[in-house]
Amino acid sequence: MIGDGGTDSGLRAIDAAASRLRGGGLVAFPTETVYGLGADAVREDAVERVFALKGRPRGNPLIVHVADAAMARGVVLDWPEEATAIAEALWPGPVTMVLPRAGVVPAIVAGGGPTVAVRSPDHPVAMALLEAFGGPIVGPSANRSGMVSPTLAEHVRGVWAEDEVMVLDGGPCRAGIESTVVLMGDEPRVFRPGVVSAATLAGVLGRPVGEGPVDVGAMRAGATLPSPGLLERHYAPRTRAVLADDVGGAVAGVEHAVVLAMGWAGDAGDAELIRMPGSAAEYAARLYAALHEADEAGADLIVVERPAAAGADATIWHAVLERLGRACSG
Ligand code: AMP
Ligand code: MG
Repeated sequence: MIGDGGTDSGLRAIDAAASRLRGGGLVAFPTETVYGLGADAVREDAVERVFALKGRPRGNPLIVHVADAAMARGVVLDWPEEATAIAEALWPGPVTMVLPRAGVVPAIVAGGGPTVAVRSPDHPVAMALLEAFGGPIVGPSANRSGMVSPTLAEHVRGVWAEDEVMVLDGGPCRAGIESTVVLMGDEPRVFRPGVVSAATLAGVLGRPVGEGPVDVGAMRAGATLPSPGLLERHYAPRTRAVLADDVGGAVAGVEHAVVLAMGWAGDAGDAELIRMPGSAAEYAARLYAALHEADEAGADLIVVERPAAAGADATIWHAVLERLGRACSG
């Protein structure tokens, strides 16, 4: 990718970003899921800055990005064989493992709890940054807390100035929604769905992997808030958004609506239409950019046609619907 026009995979940009991190500064970097807001994961003041800039509640933990399993071992107390199995099968990739946290990782990274979430991103720019920096990098989604995640460099640039956050431009994110988060241990459990299913993880581990909410309070003793991915309103545009089976009914009487629809062919009246792809993977990759565009239209209402989440891509649709449910709540 080095040298391809318009994106920052060049060595000079990576070196500048790594030295920004070494100085305790922040760098937004592309991954295959969304853009991350990067900081030195073992430097408390840098991580503090991430929380402050995002407006993220203190109890909400960050994902630590690592180049590989060897780097992951440095941030956990215990690296079970099952973690090796998942790393070998699915890293680099959109799977985050929650494991016991090593003392080198400041408590603030973990929302004060005893665990740490780690993943190795499948993106050449993220990987080049991790290698140039040579250590673990926290990378929550590079948006203000609760808002729509960024899948383009310009989404990040729209929020913070370059002196606050240096942005590495890697073009659009391929997967477009956040990683699958799996709690490791006696009863492995996926508590944030993503494009990698619990069934895939179960196949790797050779035993069942649960799905659905975990008791985060119990898991992270001392935590006062659930994880951000578990908050009801999250991934949300500023404009009120609704998920609708009946798009025509939802736009009726609204002066300025924006509709995100796949198949819907009704009369949108004065509403603007953003046509969404029919395939699950393409829909997921497009979703956040479409929500950003809809938000910028300055409409009174965003209406999202509810995708029929069935068939071979049920895992991705499930993850998409989970995000839509939070984007359209409250
Ligand atoms: P984001 O960085 O915005 O993609 O969100 C990170 C997500 O990772 C949160 O929503 C949590 O669900 C999860 N997470 C990160 N660290 C931990 C941890 N130590 N324990 C449990 N969940 C975590
Ligand atoms: Mg986020």
